[in-house]
Amino acid sequence: MMFCSKCGSILFPDKDNPKKIKCSNCGYSSRDKKSIVIKEKTKDSKKIELVDKTIETLPKTEAECPKCGNKQAFYWLNQTRSGDEAETQFFMCVKCKHRWRSYD
Ligand SMILES: [Zn+2]
Ligand SMILES: [Zn+2]
Repeated sequence: MMFCSKCGSILFPDKDNPKKIKCSNCGYSSRDKKSIVIKEKTKDSKKIELVDKTIETLPKTEAECPKCGNKQAFYWLNQTRSGDEAETQFFMCVKCKHRWRSYD
């Protein structure tokens, strides 16, 4: 817990700027990166969530599932970080939800 160095009141995060702490008594505000660390979700977990949310709206194509042999799958493209490499095509079986990537 942090206390105001001016009046000794308890400091709370500023509503307008959560990275700052502010005294509700005298208005004193300061930054303290060590005491106020707002944990953000990793970029990777955000990516996975996005795919799961949007997967039902993905276009379907004719592709044979290597797991169950179903002939229809959702597909999407994933661009790699370096611009040199080609984007990779991913499939997900509409029947068993198995995912695989295209190596073409
Ligand atoms: Zn104060
Ligand atoms: Zn399948």
